[in-house]
Amino acid sequence: MAYLADFSTEKKYQAAVKKTERLTPADTEEIREIVLEVKQPGFECQVDQSFGVLVRTENEFGKTVHHRLYSVADLPAESNGKQLLTLLVKRCSYVDDFSGEQYPGVASNYLCDRKVGDEITITGPHALPFVVPDDKHANLILVGMGTGIAPFRAFVKHIYKQVKDWKGQIRLFYGARSGMELLYLNDKDGDLTNYYDEETFAAFHALSPRPHWSDPIALDTAMEARAEEIRHLLAQTNTYVYVAGYEKIRPMLDKAFANILGSKEKWETRKAELVAGKKWAEVIY
Ligand SMILES: Cc1cc2nc3c(=O)[nH]c(=O)nc-3n(C[C@H](O)[C@H](O)[C@H](O)COP(=O)(O)OP(=O)(O)OC[C@H]3O[C@@H](n4cnc5c(N)ncnc54)[C@H](O)[C@@H]3O)c2cc1C
Repeated sequence: MAYLADFSTEKKYQAAVKKTERLTPADTEEIREIVLEVKQPGFECQVDQSFGVLVRTENEFGKTVHHRLYSVADLPAESNGKQLLTLLVKRCSYVDDFSGEQYPGVASNYLCDRKVGDEITITGPHALPFVVPDDKHANLILVGMGTGIAPFRAFVKHIYKQVKDWKGQIRLFYGARSGMELLYLNDKDGDLTNYYDEETFAAFHALSPRPHWSDPIALDTAMEARAEEIRHLLAQTNTYVYVAGYEKIRPMLDKAFANILGSKEKWETRKAELVAGKKWAEVIY
């Protein structure tokens, strides 16, 4: 497991906001897609990487710099020799256990509040564990929740547009609170649907049963509905499982995989094999 403090903030770059668009409706959680143009040449962030955002803050303890990581949500592009980066960010807030007060998350609110033309400081690029296997016959089970779709959107595009000729099966399971939050799978931003023609690709989404409540998203139900196929993929040695999203995805997935394989012990054994073979990767935040 990597800690945030392990990610260097030494290399800094300035980036200008080229586009910022809210993807979710006003009465739901705010998730924005932001496109940045990196001012200095030489910054290259690939689909298997993330980058950091630095925010200067001041509180009763003095001035500090807040560093948070964001995944690349699209294939990196170039404009006049400068790199364009796309990110997805959810405006976070959290409740202090002690005082019960709600605090806005520093970096996510800072990013969501930036306007076109504003400049921000970024770091990186930093490694993400989602590596494209060398073997094109490898199968990939990708599971993302909320903004956890970001790295997989870039990853799937990279495989079908740049690596090409993928022979293994790719299954993307994606959970969101409501249909409108199914970023990139709804009508407006449905660019993942471009790959539905590919024989090797299928995406499945899961919604919360009550979108305005804080119920867990039924990602496990969506996966268990395809138990036979997942069992078949997990029985093969060249299957990789990659997971991205919020903390609550972890127990949900363990439960779903245990149900699919028939017992908790069977899943623990298979997961240990995946981890040992470097075929399990997760970015949980
Ligand atoms: C490798 C990596 C890639 C990431 N990629 C993305 C990405 O593509 N898009 C993205 O939006 N975030 C991503 N994150 C999470 C991001 O780095 C921040 O943690 C998140 O934006 C909150 O930071 P903040 O400064 O706003 O909150 P802080 O001021 O750090 O406050 C954090 C508090 O908010 C809560 N919190 C943090 N994240 C969430 C969340 N997502 N949902 C609910 N509560 C939360 C925590 O419980 C914590 O108490 C990634 C994290 C990692 C490690």
